[in-house]
Amino acid sequence: MLDRDDNIRIVLVNSAHPGNIGGAARAMKNMGLSQLYLVAPREYPAPRAVWRSAGARDVLANAVVVGSVEEAVAECGLVIGTSARDRRIPWPLINPRQCGERIWVESASHPTAILFGREDRGLTNEELQQCHYHVNIPSNPDYSSLNLATAVQVLAYEVRMASLQRDDGSLPSLGSWDQPLATSEELEHFHSHVASSLAGMEFYDPDNPKQLLTRLRRLFNRSRMDRMEVSILRGVLATLDQKIAQLKAANTRAK
Ligand code: SAH
Repeated sequence: MLDRDDNIRIVLVNSAHPGNIGGAARAMKNMGLSQLYLVAPREYPAPRAVWRSAGARDVLANAVVVGSVEEAVAECGLVIGTSARDRRIPWPLINPRQCGERIWVESASHPTAILFGREDRGLTNEELQQCHYHVNIPSNPDYSSLNLATAVQVLAYEVRMASLQRDDGSLPSLGSWDQPLATSEELEHFHSHVASSLAGMEFYDPDNPKQLLTRLRRLFNRSRMDRMEVSILRGVLATLDQKIAQLKAANTRAK
């Protein structure tokens, strides 16, 4: 297995066909990866998954089944979502080679994940918005959607290629940052806090948020905040929450 295998998760979201799960396990093991996460698989465990996994039954047997994407990526400092087509709100988009390099570089310091979507409709917008980057395999525009296990193969191969280049000094390094990056879970709490503080100060109507929260989420995700930065901003929000509550209470008393 790759020596950073422990920090590289392949996450299959709500897969319909157990054969694809087995095929993904095989593709992973061929490339030296073993951390398979299954979010609410529709038919699993299943004999077809075992057949298709061939010699990668161990990867399948150790797969972690969870109920949501949040659980699958909670500890991750980098989450990349696969996207077979353009979405309404564009996100920072990278190609498979850049995806392999980022995953390889960052997996030296924290858990990372690549998310794969449903066979019939990919990842939802909400799932894609939990990601730092989107990756698209630049396939034939007239027939762009790859089989799920094949898409896993392509991206796992790029992680392996990035790992093989590690000694020639050609990869960018993260540098020596003084703080660990915020995890997905910390970012989700942060995004919820932003939403509730902004609602508290009546900056937007929670019943009609339009794209405000999505745009803020994209802005914050783009900046790759570390844990200290998140906690400073949450401190700022908590102070604002308090002041607004005091103002509201004073207004009520004055009436
Ligand atoms: N019809 C779906 C495609 C699903 S293909 C859609 O329109 O979104 C199943 C999964 O395979 C996708 O969710 C993605 O994880 C992966 N995949 C297939 N083709 C891909 C491509 N060209 N680039 C990136 N991921 C792809």
